[in-house]
Amino acid sequence: MEDLRQQAITYLPGIGPQRAKMLEAELGIKTWHDLLYNFPYKHIDRSRLYKIRELTTEMPFVQVLGQFLSFEEAGQGRKHRLTGHFWDGEMFLDVTWFHGIKYIKQSVKLRKDYILFGRPGVYGGRLSVIHPDLDKPESMTLSKMSMQPYYSTTERMKKAGMTSRSLENFTSSLFTKLTWTLPETLPQYLIERLHLMPLDKALRAAHYPTTADELAAANMRLKFEELFFIQLVIMSYARKRQQERVGRRFVRVGNAFNTFFHKYLPFPLTEAQKRVIREMHADMKSGHQMNRLLQGDVGSGKTLVALMVMLIAIDNGCQACIMAPTEILAEQHLQTFRNFLKDMPIRVELLTGNIKGKRRAAIEEGLRDGSIHILIGTHAVIEDNVQFNNLGLVIIDEQHRFGVAQRARLWQKSEVCPHVLVMTATPIPRTLAMTVYGDLDVSIIDELPPGRKPVRTMHIYDNQPEQLYRGVVREIEAGHQVYFVFPLVKESEKLDLKNVQDEYVHLKEVFPQYHISMVHGKMKPSEKDAEMQKFVSGETQILVATTVIEVGVNVPNASVMIIQNAERFGLSQLHQLRGRVGRGAEQSYCILVSNFKLSAETRKRLQIMTETNDGFEIAEADLKLRGPGDLEGTQQSGIAFNLKLANLGRDGQLVQLARDTASFVLDADPNLQAADNSLLLRHLLELRKEQQDWSQIS
Ligand code: ADP
Ligand code: MG
Repeated sequence: MEDLRQQAITYLPGIGPQRAKMLEAELGIKTWHDLLYNFPYKHIDRSRLYKIRELTTEMPFVQVLGQFLSFEEAGQGRKHRLTGHFWDGEMFLDVTWFHGIKYIKQSVKLRKDYILFGRPGVYGGRLSVIHPDLDKPESMTLSKMSMQPYYSTTERMKKAGMTSRSLENFTSSLFTKLTWTLPETLPQYLIERLHLMPLDKALRAAHYPTTADELAAANMRLKFEELFFIQLVIMSYARKRQQERVGRRFVRVGNAFNTFFHKYLPFPLTEAQKRVIREMHADMKSGHQMNRLLQGDVGSGKTLVALMVMLIAIDNGCQACIMAPTEILAEQHLQTFRNFLKDMPIRVELLTGNIKGKRRAAIEEGLRDGSIHILIGTHAVIEDNVQFNNLGLVIIDEQHRFGVAQRARLWQKSEVCPHVLVMTATPIPRTLAMTVYGDLDVSIIDELPPGRKPVRTMHIYDNQPEQLYRGVVREIEAGHQVYFVFPLVKESEKLDLKNVQDEYVHLKEVFPQYHISMVHGKMKPSEKDAEMQKFVSGETQILVATTVIEVGVNVPNASVMIIQNAERFGLSQLHQLRGRVGRGAEQSYCILVSNFKLSAETRKRLQIMTETNDGFEIAEADLKLRGPGDLEGTQQSGIAFNLKLANLGRDGQLVQLARDTASFVLDADPNLQAADNSLLLRHLLELRKEQQDWSQIS
């Protein structure tokens, strides 16, 4: 028995050095192991021969055994075609070729048996199969007669004549060599408990299943394994950290919290807000470090929750710090917090890269001597020099703009780790959260404060702007403000700028009576802030922007969000943008303006936006439409997803099963020391080596 990872594919029949090179360059296949784990993307059922009388145009690929009794050529030029009359002993079927006619006439013999494989259709008003595959019955091996695998190939491979069929042949000759049972990777007790297919059988069946059911069982086993090992790594780290990282014990809920709650809270908390505060307090008094992700749709009141959790830290003699991704947001937090806390003896300060000299020195001093209770900042907070007296809680707002490394630096700032709360308004479906934020506990605010009017969303085409402009005038005359947003063109920042600037000039012509602000990514932060500030203060009525405004900006008076080229935005981005309006008591609108030509997927995306305001529904839909790779945040998660079969969007239940199983295994044997678990331990150590920095996630 050989080690599959050591055996080069070069030594398989049919693969010489040339082809081996191609396979490595195009598909990364070097070893027997790689080839085995290069799974087909689909199978077509060839287990059955049909009779011609059974065929309908609704059928996918079918095969029929029969003979050509005659050929007939007709038409000229592009209409030139060859029709064969294929007889299965009962009935005739038309078989048509439009090219390769000469080759067919030479190679296909009359009155000889062929297995015809193709998709039934209609041509010239008659049932017909166009350009079928033809095989001689004697050349059809058993495997080809059952579920035929289809493998992905690249353009270069196709040019070199390497097709799905070639890969099928390589794989099948590898299986011929593998006369022994491939070693198992999961312990027997799990295989039995979960009724999983053994690895050896699953690998063979994933390529060459005999039935659709067998294929499904094989895929299930292989997907489960992928997901299970990810969860095992994540959870073993999480547990390790829980044991090792001592947290401050915030047992007390005292003066600051209670005074605020009873005297200054301007409105009752929603049930969801109360619940998440309780969840966090439970973490913070446990003696372990809190590592929690707070998800809540835009406008669900996360900021207030953050404030109240910080008050708990203060009640326990600690300082708290909240980090925002942009200066504008940091400023906004400062105003919000000072406003909420104006009658309480709590010192709140702001620190950003712009604050320098004496002002900065004073703040740093206040942080060191503990007189500042709450620090609000941007990235600058974690850069150099900033020392806290007793930092007990760190809150990261709008997490997806913060990298893993930046987060990791935070808890190097004090000896006992501060509690960490990550807040995001980009809802992440549960199954993805379990994997991306694997070892973070998740709290969800799934309720909006009462009295909000859902934003009304409409999709229109860009050929009739007059009506849109009339709507804009109506809203502004009613005292409201309006956003016009443009997509970023990644390939061309110049084009971006042009878009926004052209539109700015254009809108000035359309609305000479109004004042207009403009922000885009090419501006200096200070310019950007100044322009934003004009809009925030109401000095300008219209803001023209690229997506720089996406995160967190709060202008409750803005009631219309117009998204130009909406077809170029992803769902979660559209949802974020929409979240900028509907923050006041008035009815707000989101207008998605797109080109008339849309792909089916894009049309679906825009339709989802008009149908729901629920961020979680949108996130689920996004995950299904696009897959997890594109979702914001995943790149920064620090986890290398290496999922060949499993799909975090579609296999939610399996993710849950994988997580439950990992948890079950680690409960019984936290360090995987049992003989039963030796396979798991070995694999886990290998994975950890590959993923050195997983321990720093969160
Ligand atoms: P998020 O950060 O989750 O997007 P915010 O914290 O900015 O949302 O809250 C949006 C608005 O709702 C703010 O003006 C806030 O004061 C208000 N708000 C928060 N909680 C409540 C509540 N329980 N009842 C009424 N209004 C609330
Ligand atoms: Mg917020």
